[in-house]
Amino acid sequence: MQIIDDPSVIQRRCKSLRRQGKTIGFVPTMGAFHEGHISLMRRARADNDVVVVSIFVNPIQFGRGEDFDSYPRDLPDDLAQTERVGVDLVFAPSAEAIYPKGFQTHVDVTGLTEGLCGVSRPGHFRGVTTVVAKLFNLVRPHRAYFGQKDYQQSVVVRRLVADLNFDLDVVVLPTVRETDGLAMSSRNVRLTSQQRQAASILYRSLCRAEERVNAGERSAKAIIEEVRAMIEAEPLARIEYVALCHPDTLQPLDRIDGPALLALAVRVGETRLIDNVLITLP
Ligand code: AMP
Repeated sequence: MQIIDDPSVIQRRCKSLRRQGKTIGFVPTMGAFHEGHISLMRRARADNDVVVVSIFVNPIQFGRGEDFDSYPRDLPDDLAQTERVGVDLVFAPSAEAIYPKGFQTHVDVTGLTEGLCGVSRPGHFRGVTTVVAKLFNLVRPHRAYFGQKDYQQSVVVRRLVADLNFDLDVVVLPTVRETDGLAMSSRNVRLTSQQRQAASILYRSLCRAEERVNAGERSAKAIIEEVRAMIEAEPLARIEYVALCHPDTLQPLDRIDGPALLALAVRVGETRLIDNVLITLP
C-alpha cells in the first residue's frame, strides 16, 4: 500500500495505472474509519483492479461553528485498516495542498442541495462537490463508492457526475448499522454512553414509520408526526428535520404512492446525527 500526500503524485500514479488498462475504484472519505467505510472499500476491492482511498477532512464543507476542529481523526489506525482491506493507494493530502493560495473555483449543484441538510448547513454541499470534483480529476476512477447513510450527498454527487460529464459510475451502498440499528458514523465516538443509548431512537423511529406504511398509512403528515413524537419523547434528542421526499428529486411528498425517502437529522447532545430509509410500497 502506498501513501501519497501530493496531488500531482496521485494524479500521475493513477494516470499511469489507467494507461496500463487497470480499472480504478475510488472511495473518498474523511477518515476515522468504521465498518461503513470498510464496506465501501471491500466492494471497491471486489469490483476493480486498483483501489484508491482518500482521507481528507475537507475544511470547506464545514460551516462556521461546526465541528471541523474537533472532527475525529486517527490516521495511523485508518492506515492499518486500509492495509488490512487490501487498498492499493491512500491519498491523504493537507488542506494547503488541496486549496493552495489563490484557489477560487467552486462547484455548486443547485436545487438538490437546498432542502434537508442544506437548510441548516448552507455551503456544505458546495464544499463537498468542489472537493469531490477535484478528487475525481486527480484519481480519474472508473467507479466511485458512496454510502446511503449520506443519502442527499449521494444524489448530489450523481447529479454532479451527470451534469459535468465525469466519466465514471457512482455506486451507492447500504448503510452499515450497529446492533441496535444506529447508523455507523465517525461522530458516534463523541456520544456519552447515555447519549449513545438515546441515539438508537433515530433508527427505531424510521422502522416504526416503515411499519406504518406497510400497514397501509399513506399520509406523509401522519408518518412524520409519528416519527417526531417518538424522537421528542427522548429527552436527549433534538430534531433538526424529519422529511418524506421523492428519492430522486428530494422534493417533499404529501402522500406515499411510490418510492419515498424518509430522512432525518437529530442532535443528541452536541452531536448531529443523520439517518434515512428508502420506503417502497408493499
Ligand atoms: P465520511 O468519512 O463520513 O465522509 O464518509 C465517507 C463515505 O462513507 C461516504 O460515502 C459515506 O456515505 C460513507 N459512510 C459513512 N457512514 C456509513 C455507514 N454507516 N454505512 C455505509 N456507508 C457509510
